[in-house]
Amino acid sequence: AAEEAKGEPSYVPVNKATPGVPGADPAYPKTMTINGEELPVATCFGSDMADINKPRLVILGSGWGATSILKHTQDLDANGYYTVVLSPTNYFLFTPLLPEATTGTTECRSLIESIRKICFRSRAHYCEAAAQDVHFDLKMVEVIGVDGRHFLVPYDKLVIGVGAMNNTFGVPGVRENARFLKDIQDARYLRHKLMTNFETAALPTTSEEERKRLLSFVIAGGGPTGVEYAAELYDFLHEDLMKYFPDLTSSDVSVTIVQSADHILNTFSEAISLYAEERFKKHNINVVTNARVTKVDPGVLTYRNKNAKAGEVDTFEIPFGICLWSTGIGLRDFTKRLVDKIDMQKNKRAIEVDSRLRMKGVEGVYALGDCATIENPNMMEIVKQSFVETGKDSLDYDTFQSVIASIVDRFPQTAMHLEKLQNLFEKYDLDKNRRLDMTEIAVLVDETNKKLTSLPATAQVARQQGEYMAKKLNKLAWTPSAEGSMAVENTLKPFNYKHLGSFSYVGGDSAVIDLGGGRTGGGFGAFLLWRGAYLAKQVSLRTRVLLALDWTKRMFGRYDCSSPR
Ligand code: FAD
Repeated sequence: AAEEAKGEPSYVPVNKATPGVPGADPAYPKTMTINGEELPVATCFGSDMADINKPRLVILGSGWGATSILKHTQDLDANGYYTVVLSPTNYFLFTPLLPEATTGTTECRSLIESIRKICFRSRAHYCEAAAQDVHFDLKMVEVIGVDGRHFLVPYDKLVIGVGAMNNTFGVPGVRENARFLKDIQDARYLRHKLMTNFETAALPTTSEEERKRLLSFVIAGGGPTGVEYAAELYDFLHEDLMKYFPDLTSSDVSVTIVQSADHILNTFSEAISLYAEERFKKHNINVVTNARVTKVDPGVLTYRNKNAKAGEVDTFEIPFGICLWSTGIGLRDFTKRLVDKIDMQKNKRAIEVDSRLRMKGVEGVYALGDCATIENPNMMEIVKQSFVETGKDSLDYDTFQSVIASIVDRFPQTAMHLEKLQNLFEKYDLDKNRRLDMTEIAVLVDETNKKLTSLPATAQVARQQGEYMAKKLNKLAWTPSAEGSMAVENTLKPFNYKHLGSFSYVGGDSAVIDLGGGRTGGGFGAFLLWRGAYLAKQVSLRTRVLLALDWTKRMFGRYDCSSPR
């Protein structure tokens, strides 16, 4: 259907007044009243009017998901939209290497690329503004510009890629006394604070107790970010810092990871977790597991042992000079506002989208990356439906197989789980000639259903979703109407995530890699692979060159122990 529709663009491909088109229709409203307030409607971004009659694609965010869309819509012939990118950060940030910027292994500038440059290549218009709300009935995004003024931006298609924010899980004192590592300002702050703490600790007037506190680095959360920060600290402290601070000894310095699960890197395979823990033990990085942080006071973190039995002392305090909080992510206020007003948005922890990344409950709106979650099917409901459709009270093996195939077709993320379902069939040695009744099938489905989890909140997922969205948007640009667009969209393939492996740096030029399916590795080889993969994934030649230079500098040179703000 997509092919049939091609050749008939949905817009008037000439630059002249078109009724109802923002920016091209002089009668289009200049202002609108929202909640009693009259707000300007922004229809033109810049003087380039060539695309003004095209459908409006508004992209919220300039992170992994958003830039991946822009990167894959660079083929201008295929890009049949007037594209507007709205984000409060005017750069794309290569988050996986942020821990390196906290010690200066890489420079902050090597991790960021101007979003205007990326937009320019895709003929998109950028505006430094944060989305506050979406008025779905009016198809308008309400934004607040960098100057603090509110205005409205109309859309035909809206893609939400605003990411997520750090989650404190309600632990008191985290926002006030700990630091997150989410943006480039965080990395700059941590680098500066690290040096300031060392300089303060080296003062002759600093007491021993205070020195130890200043040089105590506590990390709440043993996921990849926490682990990589600890690894970077280890490299920095042991390769250079102690040499240039002869008044300090290594016993003054401590690095502690406080993790709530049994192991650090618990989303990786167990072999990787054990490898990393072993390495950290050798590097004198303390790992406290099964610990729940209860509060963070100025300079002191308190945690409880989760498994403590009655009568045991279960509360511990660790004084710190720097506390990094990296325990997980939560919804931004903007995202929360959107899910709260749509009844069909049942999952209140992210925007629920179908397997084609369409936001549930509204039309023409998509969401991807950390702010979105793909709905998981209620497999039992689908199986039950097939009982109704066949009018029988039992299913034979072949029908059961075709039900499975139809579920995988609609929800590609179930492929692995349904494979398990088929294996269970074999495991229980079920006679393929015998018909299975509902109760028997319910037991099988239930066993795999529990294992259905959401996709991880990673750059890898956001990037692949952006690429999928771009290809889809390019196809939809050539469909003549909203109804046609929906019909075509239903014929397009759903998003299918391909896991390419997870990496984590563990210090001393060593990394761990988990390719899934029990294929794991660790050591210098994995470290080279890790760096190679990140060089390949850079969004521009400029950052690729800068990164290569930073790493070369580090190989031959030394860390920079100065700390200008
Ligand atoms: P983001 O990349 O976070 O982008 C969100 C964008 O939305 C930003 O530009 C933001 O400014 C903008 N925005 C925010 N609010 C608004 C608003 N109201 N209106 C408009 N725009 C808004 N993933 C991996 O796969 N591998 C790794 O090794 C890895 N390491 C990481 C290390 C660190 C330190 C961190 C913080 C994350 C790491 N991740 C890693 C996770 C990865 O960064 C995220 O999963 C990814 O950034 C998600 O992409 P996104 O596009 O959804 O959101």
